[in-house]
Amino acid sequence: MIDFHCHIDLYQNATEIVKECNDRRIYVLAVTTTPSAWEGTSAFVKGNERIRVALGLHPELAHQRKSELEIFERLLPKARYVGEIGLDGTPELKVHWNDQMSVFRRILSACQKAGGRIMTVHSRRAVPDVLETLAAHPRAGIPVLHWYSGSKRDLQRAIDLGCWFSVGPAMLAGEKGRMLLAEMPKNRVLTETDGPFATVGTRAAVPWDVETMLPFMSELWGISPDQVGKQLRDNLRHLVELGGVGEGHNHRHLETKP
Ligand code: MN
Repeated sequence: MIDFHCHIDLYQNATEIVKECNDRRIYVLAVTTTPSAWEGTSAFVKGNERIRVALGLHPELAHQRKSELEIFERLLPKARYVGEIGLDGTPELKVHWNDQMSVFRRILSACQKAGGRIMTVHSRRAVPDVLETLAAHPRAGIPVLHWYSGSKRDLQRAIDLGCWFSVGPAMLAGEKGRMLLAEMPKNRVLTETDGPFATVGTRAAVPWDVETMLPFMSELWGISPDQVGKQLRDNLRHLVELGGVGEGHNHRHLETKP
């Protein structure tokens, strides 16, 4: 199982969640919302060989934490994955749009200079601007659009730009999310939960909830649930290869075993 976008350090019972992920052998990309959280979260998950930590600055916090861009740039050489980054166009956050934009651009420029990163990207109500900004930084790396909720037309544009997608149970709970998944190339899809922010029923989503999506994907793609699992592991392996993660470094990456 793969949870490619999870805020693992923000669960109240984070220690138990990490242990359970380890027991269940789940590959987890633990995203962070501020650069200053990266070192602590990395230390927290240390020793769990299937958990990696992404260096992020969430668009909701861009206006409050833009001063941490220096920390971001200092840590980037050590970080193999970047996220959560992006833009959010909801009305409460639109007032901080200039800060969001300048933070997103500076992060993409830094990734470009660093040789590219695998990036988990937030695009709520901001898909056209996210795509335009990504297109302006073509060597920033490989964007994985997390919880894509834009139009079908913009989805095609994202596909043409080389974006990947991570989809979660909350997204597939709705008709629109299921329609969007059906339009995504199955060799560029990964699973995620966005826990603990995303919910399943009334509780916070946990990484092993990704399993609940397998029957739907199986039906959609016309392959068995086991084959869905293999497809997703192959996708992760391919993404890591494309992203050059670990290349020339001693860092072990999220490599999957057959
Ligand atoms: Mn998130």
